[in-house]
Parts: sequence; structure tokens; C-alpha cells
Amino acid sequence: MTDNLFRRLGQLYADMEQEYGLVAGQTGLTCSGCPENCCTSYFQHHTHVEWAYLWEGLGNLPDQRLREIRGKAGEYVHAAQEMLARQGLPDVMCPLNADGLCTLYAHRMMICRLHGVPNRFTLPNGQAKTFLGCFRCQELLAGKEKTPVLERTDFYRRLAALEMEYIRGLPYRPARVRLTLAEMIRIGPPEFNDPAMSCATR
Ligand code: SF4
Ligand code: SF4
Repeated sequence: MTDNLFRRLGQLYADMEQEYGLVAGQTGLTCSGCPENCCTSYFQHHTHVEWAYLWEGLGNLPDQRLREIRGKAGEYVHAAQEMLARQGLPDVMCPLNADGLCTLYAHRMMICRLHGVPNRFTLPNGQAKTFLGCFRCQELLAGKEKTPVLERTDFYRRLAALEMEYIRGLPYRPARVRLTLAEMIRIGPPEFNDPAMSCATR
């Protein structure tokens, strides 16, 4: 079952990338030579299915590389906690970034695939949210009347459906997810480390 879910999540990711590529092409945005590195941005992720898919990728890495990444993830979690305690937004390099490149590019999370270009989505309650894109994209679009926008709503719907299916296949009712990627790496795969599982099976 998981293979089928992961295949469809992979297709969803591919569709996101295609749409992102179209909008980035229309704006002229490229990350090449950018003075910023968005892999230091602080994001929390909210689905078990993406967490599990991330671990499918991590599980295929050589043991030594995985140990290094888990060590970096621990440092990330510690540094982020300190920054949050000082009321600041954490600004720490993602443990999967090596020399500016993503170690697990094919398994990176949804937000890594959509950040950058102007985008919008509509919440189930009808409320619309819009984002102007990264600073570089905003510079490129400054003064332009018509700007392309990536529509995220359908992508969110599809991800929510995959998440529901994943959860229905679990032998326990999982807790809500609100974890950074580094925390997901530190904790381990969701099926063995969800706090709700230890309660349900006690
Ligand atoms: S998304 Fe924008 S800010 Fe981030 S690396 Fe790419 S160009 Fe730079
Ligand atoms: S998963 Fe990859 S693309 Fe996403 S923040 Fe980490 S290194 Fe960057």
C-alpha cells in the first residue's frame, strides 16, 4: 500500500515542480547566484505521509551519511530551540544541505518545491492566502502590472487526500504533526515514533 501512496506522492511532487517551473519561467526567477539560501528558512511540516516518504529516502543512504545527517539534525534542533527561546525565528542551515545542494532532492518536502514564486491558496473555510514570492522574485516583478501566480490549492487538496489514506492505513490514531524536517530526522520514521502509537499500544 505504501508503495502506491509513495508513487502518487511522487507524481504530486512532479506536478508541483512542473507548475513551479512554468511560473518561475514567466517571472525569470532562478536561484542560481542568489545571495540568500532558502534552506536556512524555518518551516514546520504537517503530514505523516511526507514524513514517511522523507524516511524512505533517508533509509536508502549509506549508514555513515545517515549518521552524519542525524548528527546535523540534532545540532539544528538544539540551535533552533535556543533561537526560539530568544523570541527569534530560527535561521539554521537544513541538515540535508551539503555544500549548497540538497542531499535528498527527490524526497524533499512540499514547501521546498513551492517556495520562491508568487503563490496563493484557498483554505477550506474559503479564506484566501497569498504570498508575493521571495525577495528576488519581488525585485524581478516590481512595477509590473500583471504577475504570474502559482495556485497551490489543488496541490494541498491532493496532499490532504494522500495523508488521509496514509493515516487510515495505520493501526493507531496518530497525533497531529508539527515538526521541522530536522525533528523528523531526529525522531525517526513516523510509524515507529509517533507519540500516539506508544500510547495506543501500551
Ligand atoms: S527561492 Fe528566491 S531567495 Fe530562495 S534561493 Fe531561490 S532566488 Fe534566492
Ligand atoms: S530538504 Fe533540501 S531543499 Fe529542502 S531545505 Fe533541506 S536541503 Fe533545502
